[in-house]
Amino acid sequence: MSASKRKKLLAGNWKMNIRLAEVEPFFTAFSDVLKAGQSDHVDILFAAPFTQLNATLAASRARGFAVGAQNMHFEASGAFTGEVSAAMLTDIGVRTTLVGHSERRQYFAESDEAVAKKTVTALANAITPVVCVGETLEERKSGATFQVVSRQLETVFKAVKNHGPLANREAFYPGDLTDSIVIAYEPVWAIGTGLSATLEQAQEVHGFIRKVCGDIFGAEFSFRLRILYGGSANLANIAGLLAQPDIDGGLVGGASLKPADFATMCNAAKR
Ligand code: PEP
Repeated sequence: MSASKRKKLLAGNWKMNIRLAEVEPFFTAFSDVLKAGQSDHVDILFAAPFTQLNATLAASRARGFAVGAQNMHFEASGAFTGEVSAAMLTDIGVRTTLVGHSERRQYFAESDEAVAKKTVTALANAITPVVCVGETLEERKSGATFQVVSRQLETVFKAVKNHGPLANREAFYPGDLTDSIVIAYEPVWAIGTGLSATLEQAQEVHGFIRKVCGDIFGAEFSFRLRILYGGSANLANIAGLLAQPDIDGGLVGGASLKPADFATMCNAAKR
């Protein structure tokens, strides 16, 4: 299989945006711009706030888009006020979630260990975790990018490896996305700042992530792994990003709130 055979994945991270009344109009506007047959080239995922998941599922299912949460807790149940479990997500048909988004790490003190536990819990519940990693501006400036990204990844991958095989998961995975796990490289300094990584910077870290994954899970699995870029991806830079050999899609915040723009970005994806 050549690298170009990995199907692209464009994931919109709505963050704490999109009111209920906006959901259906969003999908109408999005679908008006999305090219017919584009689903052959790109899987499209919307990570919606918890309270909007049902409406987002209802609007997107018939149109063939996947829906994910933005977070979940690693425990199965209990005294965790304000949290939502993996089973609660699968109860309503959600089969994907972001894990370890930098805003969760930064504002809600999520540690590498918590991110690893969430990843394991997601996998155990047949939920595809989109695991976010990335360095801060200070870390990049001090030359620590690879050290930070490998620490974040290895904490997750080792926890997954200790928990059981990833390899069998596709066989029982019933969701919209066929991956067992997706990685998103999101340099923290590029998120919501308008400052995107250059194509070279992004490709360099994506290639590194694939290598770290290969060292732990083997070449075949790492070759199939979809690695998304996130950090001010937009109409102007998406085609260049998607043309990089190890960039398999995007995790898109701000630009995913504009349905026509996000659909145009999805139209840029080629298999
Ligand atoms: C994100 O929220 O994951 C993100 C990448 O945001 P933005 O595209 O706005 O930088």
